[in-house]
Amino acid sequence: MIKISILGSTGSIGTSALDVVSHLKNFKIIGLSANKNITLLRKQIKENKPKIVAVGRDGLKNISLIKEADVVLIAVVGSVGLTSLVNAIKLKKRIALANKESLVVAGVLIEKLLKKYSVKIIPVDSEHSAIFQCIDGRNPKELSKVILTASGGPFRNYSYKKLSAVTVKDVLKHPTWKMGRKITVDSATLINKGFEVIEAHHLFGVPYSKIEVVIHPQSIIHSGVEFVDGSIIAQMGRTDMRLPIQYALTYPERKISTVKRLDLVKVGKLEFFKINPRNFPCFELALSAAKISGTMPAVLNAANEIAVGKFLENKIDFLKIPKLIERAMKKHCSVKNPLLEDILQVDSETRKIVEEMI
Ligand code: MG
Repeated sequence: MIKISILGSTGSIGTSALDVVSHLKNFKIIGLSANKNITLLRKQIKENKPKIVAVGRDGLKNISLIKEADVVLIAVVGSVGLTSLVNAIKLKKRIALANKESLVVAGVLIEKLLKKYSVKIIPVDSEHSAIFQCIDGRNPKELSKVILTASGGPFRNYSYKKLSAVTVKDVLKHPTWKMGRKITVDSATLINKGFEVIEAHHLFGVPYSKIEVVIHPQSIIHSGVEFVDGSIIAQMGRTDMRLPIQYALTYPERKISTVKRLDLVKVGKLEFFKINPRNFPCFELALSAAKISGTMPAVLNAANEIAVGKFLENKIDFLKIPKLIERAMKKHCSVKNPLLEDILQVDSETRKIVEEMI
């Protein structure tokens, strides 16, 4: 029996993961943690009979320290997942990571810890799962480029002027993926893709100059890699997160899944476009924070978390999100090689600064 704890079990990834586990033999849920959806958590406890359950921020910290778990799936939203990730690495757990913010804010630090404790992260993010599958077993020297695909979100063809009038409802209508609210907003601003560039850089040790982002509206190719001989290997599948979740849990094996099969004839065509950076300042801000590195990505992320939260509460306009992030980044002087404490401090300070700006 492989024992799993799921951190963030009532969210979009958490519920999909429980569905995956219910169809897999040899897997048992040992721990569940949720932020505040107690009704759903109660139902999950009844169905899965976990040994340990935790609620809220402190609960999250405690559950990431359970020794019995073989696999820890980190599926919480935001940089709140960072401490859990660090705990799971130190306990040498197998980690299925669906929390990209922790790699965004502390990528260099996490890389060092992974090396020190000889732990491997298996990515759950669909793009990174695709890349992970494409490079599995290859010599890293053979890799010439990572090709990260992006659906482009609901506003791919909007003018900047049209973007100023979009509502929360418009933003939450993602064209190809059904996801949680925060990541759906991040996908509409395309900051999500910027985060994923940073995530890919740290997960696969690829320099930023070798990561290309391509708009692919059908979201059938989840990402790919180009090798030194010019050959491209990409991974395709339906837009169903149960696929990358299952792969992260059963890796290196593949097991039969309940995911519907992809009908290529029905898909018909696959298109690719360049990103128009002028319409997506958040994407550009993410790339610039990545290049500055140090504590700047932590500022980027914290400012975004606050701004997105306010946007979802209808307190600010959609285009105010990049403006707030930009202001927070301009105010900050990045510290090189930060420790975990430095990152957590910058994270909480930035939250306060951005709250005050609103
Ligand atoms: Mg993704």
